[in-house]
Amino acid sequence: MTEQPHEPFTGRGAGRMDAIAKGPFAPIYPVIARQIIDTCNITEGRCVDIGCGPGHLAMALGAASNLSIDALDSSNDMLAIARQNIQEAGLTDRVHTVCGDVHDLPYDDNSIDLIVSRGSFFFWDDRVRAFQEIYRVLRPGGRTFVGGGFGTPALKAEITEKMRVIDPEWEVKAAERLAPKNRDAIRRDLEKTGIPVYEIHEGEAGFWVIMRK
Ligand code: SAM
Repeated sequence: MTEQPHEPFTGRGAGRMDAIAKGPFAPIYPVIARQIIDTCNITEGRCVDIGCGPGHLAMALGAASNLSIDALDSSNDMLAIARQNIQEAGLTDRVHTVCGDVHDLPYDDNSIDLIVSRGSFFFWDDRVRAFQEIYRVLRPGGRTFVGGGFGTPALKAEITEKMRVIDPEWEVKAAERLAPKNRDAIRRDLEKTGIPVYEIHEGEAGFWVIMRK
């Protein structure tokens, strides 16, 4: 299934996302990378960041581990920015961009040790299929850290303050995405997948699906 990337993630939308990721959101990526490593305990092997956008989580994970990371996105405009960011960060040896769709991942079964994704699953067209795809490519012994969040409640509060100036609608949109009814919908989708072992780690600052295989 090949989808057209959603409009906020192409053209000027991609540039805007990079500016926000380099501005108010910048402190969250190293914090989330550390949470991923502490939770999943995987620091080498193959990792994919699905819906990497401008690549900041992939780069933070690359800097904090020995993982070989594919920064995957369905938007070529996002990937062009990610490539530039990865080059500027000096991480081209271990972080590579890949154009792909979460509904049809370009990987063999049981081939990826760690699959991460931040802020992307709100935009997937068929979350059940996407979760099943992620599980298909996950290697036995592998883990996922897939969801949305801001690192800590304090970082979330700081971002909210700054985003009020940049985009007055952002606070409402962000609250809606992780509202209880959406969290419940994600739980129901996970139940439909038939994936046998997963946990949900959730709190004020995030909602993450940790699958095990
Ligand atoms: N993960 C990045 C971050 O936290 O800064 C970017 C998050 S951005 C809100 C969501 C990203 O998911 C966009 O770059 C978008 O192109 C990507 N995306 C949306 N649907 C996708 C799909 N079906 N497959 C792959 N990527 C997708």
